[in-house]
Amino acid sequence: MLDAVIIAIGSELLTPSKTDTNSLYLTDQLNTLGVEVRKKVIVGDDRGMLSAEIREALEQVAIVILTGGLGPTEDDVTRDAVAAALERPLIWRQDICDGIEERFRTRGRAMAEINKRQAYIIEGATVLANPTGTAPGLWIESGHNLIVLLPGPPSEMKPTFEREVLPRLQARVPEVVIRTRFYRVTGMTESDLDTLISPAYKDYTNPATTVLASAGDIQVHLRARCETADEAERLLAAVGDPIEKLLGDRIYSNNGDALEDVIGRLLRPRQETVAVAESLTGGQLGQRLTSVAGASDYFLGGLLTYSDRVKTALLGVDPEVLKRYTAVSAEVAEQMAIGARDRTGATYGISTTGEAGPVSATGAPVGTIYLGYATPAATGAIRLVMPGDRNRVRGFTVNAALDLLRRHILRLE
Ligand code: ATP
Ligand code: MG
Repeated sequence: MLDAVIIAIGSELLTPSKTDTNSLYLTDQLNTLGVEVRKKVIVGDDRGMLSAEIREALEQVAIVILTGGLGPTEDDVTRDAVAAALERPLIWRQDICDGIEERFRTRGRAMAEINKRQAYIIEGATVLANPTGTAPGLWIESGHNLIVLLPGPPSEMKPTFEREVLPRLQARVPEVVIRTRFYRVTGMTESDLDTLISPAYKDYTNPATTVLASAGDIQVHLRARCETADEAERLLAAVGDPIEKLLGDRIYSNNGDALEDVIGRLLRPRQETVAVAESLTGGQLGQRLTSVAGASDYFLGGLLTYSDRVKTALLGVDPEVLKRYTAVSAEVAEQMAIGARDRTGATYGISTTGEAGPVSATGAPVGTIYLGYATPAATGAIRLVMPGDRNRVRGFTVNAALDLLRRHILRLE
């Protein structure tokens, strides 16, 4: 299996205002070819630092890809640094100089003297035409290493990669089959999930397992790379099947679908409907449910009831209950859900109330969440506690409310 290091060059990439996006693009391209990126480095315009990084990378991996620092100015040091690391001389190429001069001429400008720097290549390098700029890329083979130099501007780097590098890499990299599994899970924290499933994957580097989480919505990706599809599927099953067993019905999708898509697919064939009553989430729950095309088949509407008075007026929440338990309580959450269900005629009513912070309005600790439900079978509420800032608490609540609905539709515990 071939592996790579990507080195992004440019002092501007070390400032707070400029992000290295080239390496994201390159990582995606390399992974698709079956090349694993083992390390990404950002180096300023510093010849010595860069040479040292290049030497280290050449020892570690087969493929080293560099972007940036090929420009004409004194601070563009990539050519020099690679030449130094490989102990190869720079060689003047009149044809490249002519090409740059021609490019300037067709734009009605004269080539500046400093652009001549771009006509030097490293001995033994293949020149990679840059269709959208002056600095050509370079492809260098040295022992078991491959070194590729690409221009820094993404508008030059991408076309150079696609036209000049990709076909050469495809010819060089052995064919691999990549097969993936993708689980989406909610209703647990990322660390609980990892504690639960890591015994199933920790002994395997193939498939590679990654866990990504945001606001209580967790994605588990498995990616197997093998010579044959059968082998890839066998490895995926070896890791994926135990993970599926461990997570059980906490997995809400295994094809990438979001919770709101899953809910639509559950409600539609059952000819059931849902309505929501939102306080804490301020409409985000309705927003998620209606982000699915055709949601009108099963989503009847939402009531955004923020004040106590409006909770009573629109949902029929008992003012005595509000006074006694406050709006952040299981009692009120349940009555809100009942109100949403009964006032719209929906099969299910779901409600959200809680303290998003930063200060508590009701005395309940910040991060306290109540989700109410009213189904044909039962009414009630659950309490959750979510540490974090206002946005996190609200985002988490939306996912938890959608999952509560899913569980009631499926009659899960
Ligand atoms: P030029 O001939 O334009 O000087 P170059 O190969 O020397 O090309 P740099 O000077 O390193 O490239 O970068 C030019 C511009 O390209 C930077 O100002 C930056 O906006 C963009 N750029 C460079 N590297 C990256 C990167 N890794 N990710 C995103 N943008 C980048
Ligand atoms: Mg430059």
